[in-house]
Amino acid sequence: MNDCVFCKIIDGAIPSKRYYEDERMIVIADIDPKAAKHYLAMPKKHYKLLSEMTEADRNDLGVIFATIARIAPELGLGNGYRLVINQGDDAGQTVFHLHIHIMGGQVLDFPDLKKA
Ligand code: 5GP
Ligand code: ZN
Repeated sequence: MNDCVFCKIIDGAIPSKRYYEDERMIVIADIDPKAAKHYLAMPKKHYKLLSEMTEADRNDLGVIFATIARIAPELGLGNGYRLVINQGDDAGQTVFHLHIHIMGGQVLDFPDLKKA
């Protein structure tokens, strides 16, 4: 059995508003937003990590990035946004289904993580 929370959202077992969907990906709102607007874009195919992707999968990722850029104005992000992928433990990845954080709706400062 697949215990992945994002697979359950993709399958509809956990209901969630979809801000965008196609055969490859969905976009949902983050349940615990870290910016005025905080969405998650994720491939429907389950990859635990960016490092799990093959060359062919990476082409899919390119299309996902292009789709994010295309729909950003509809998400209220026409003035700019930041994309983040947390890969692995040092980055604090908590859900092991590859996803891209899309954050904006405000001016975003750029933290100096060395000082954290
Ligand atoms: P990570 O730390 O793995 O890069 O990010 C996981 C993100 O998923 C977190 O920002 C967290 O708030 C979000 N999240 C975790 N569980 C759920 C959920 O059930 N629904 C939604 N919409 N977001 C979730
Ligand atoms: Zn999954």
